[in-house]
Amino acid sequence: MRTSLAPLGFFILAFGAHAAAGPSARPNIIFMLADDVGYGDFGCYGATKVKTPNIDRLAEEGLRFTDAHAPSAVCTPTRYAFMTGEYAWRRQGTGILPGTAALIVEPGRVTVPSLLRSADYATGVVGKWHLGLGPQSPTDYNGEIKPGPLEIGFDYAWLLPATGDRTPCVWVEDHRVVGLDPADPITLDYTVQRGDPESFVNGIPRIGKQTGGKAALWKDEEIADVLTGKAVAFIERHKDHPFFLYFATHDIHVPRVPHPRFRGGSQAGVRGDVIQEFDGSVGEIMAALGRLKLVDNTLLIVTSDNGGVLDTNGPDAVHGGTEETNNGHAFNGPLRGTKGSPYEGGTRVPFIVRWPGHVRRGTSGALICHVDMLATMAAIAGQPLPGDAGPDSFNVLPALLGPEGDRPCREYLVEHGNVLALRKGPWKLIPARPAAKGKKGKRAPASAELYNLAEDIGETKNLADQNTEIVAGMTAALNRIREQGRSRP
Ligand code: CA
Repeated sequence: MRTSLAPLGFFILAFGAHAAAGPSARPNIIFMLADDVGYGDFGCYGATKVKTPNIDRLAEEGLRFTDAHAPSAVCTPTRYAFMTGEYAWRRQGTGILPGTAALIVEPGRVTVPSLLRSADYATGVVGKWHLGLGPQSPTDYNGEIKPGPLEIGFDYAWLLPATGDRTPCVWVEDHRVVGLDPADPITLDYTVQRGDPESFVNGIPRIGKQTGGKAALWKDEEIADVLTGKAVAFIERHKDHPFFLYFATHDIHVPRVPHPRFRGGSQAGVRGDVIQEFDGSVGEIMAALGRLKLVDNTLLIVTSDNGGVLDTNGPDAVHGGTEETNNGHAFNGPLRGTKGSPYEGGTRVPFIVRWPGHVRRGTSGALICHVDMLATMAAIAGQPLPGDAGPDSFNVLPALLGPEGDRPCREYLVEHGNVLALRKGPWKLIPARPAAKGKKGKRAPASAELYNLAEDIGETKNLADQNTEIVAGMTAALNRIREQGRSRP
């Protein structure tokens, strides 16, 4: 084992000074990112109709955050911000991508994997990518597919290229589609809408039509097992050397097609079943760490890329779940709004960290965000973060290490739903946006909204009229953060 016996104070001093920590002090890092899991979806966050014993045990052995946020309320911009330490709303072209999109992270910039690779970590990504592949759109899946993850810092990649409900429905390993028959090349047509007879793959409607690649098609009910198997294999290959694994599951995004052993297992329909499947994947990662004696030297994070959503408009009600099958399960707990929304249900997500002997045990109300992972992992690896890298990434390691309560690491956080919102202390501002666009029910307010989350976590009482100075001050702060192009020191 590479666990250091140095006292906690050493780590705080060393990381605070960006000193190069010795190899023995560097933990393996696993960032496990679920898709569309809401704040109330795990037992340790209050779920009763869905059982998540592995995640609950992880929370008992580690630190559970109650005010952690995805950088955006939807997939692609969250993943962009995690990877780069930059809020995605600063960049055009970082919205939800089709499976034909080019890579949106420029090779050469500092990313979580590139930074950890410079710190001599082995770096791997397994799972949903959704950051584009190739030099230009449309992506050519029939040859060598690059640039992609290997060009922005990963040593190894096993990808679901876009989403489970978008074509192509094939695996990509490093630069190639796995099992592709050259005589049956893949072509994609994103003018075909989900639900069109031509959009069906494996009997499930997708966004975009896929022609060819028949021998390479994934099997939907095996996605979780395939990904978890690849993640465990990566851990096994690198058990003797510091590694970073970004494990981005398809669960619990639509189409929700659990393996038969999980089907019907929850009391919240197919949506609950795939949460339990995700919990099974977490359990397999934990078991692998135990088997390989890596528990004490591995920082394991389990979180989600945006808030929960029932998604009855998914590929179909069977694969998304319905109000009826959901059975009253409060997937976003007490929060208002869902995936896509500027309310807390859009971005506030479960976030659990375990690193025995280092990360304190218990709960934390500290305000943190996945955009902070770049600076935080730099600190963990003892690798200096260049001044122009990760413009919105704060080192939140003090919140992980403790020892006392909820140490504030950042003064502000911009929440990115279909409109930007700002957090500061107990306050949440959603500025007025006159020409609001967006789906019904997720529309931004015509006048400013201000909530005191310490007293009103469900954002039910708009206090803007009684607190005009706070509204003005936070509006100015949000404008400043936008205009300055960076928000970290
Ligand atoms: Ca998502």
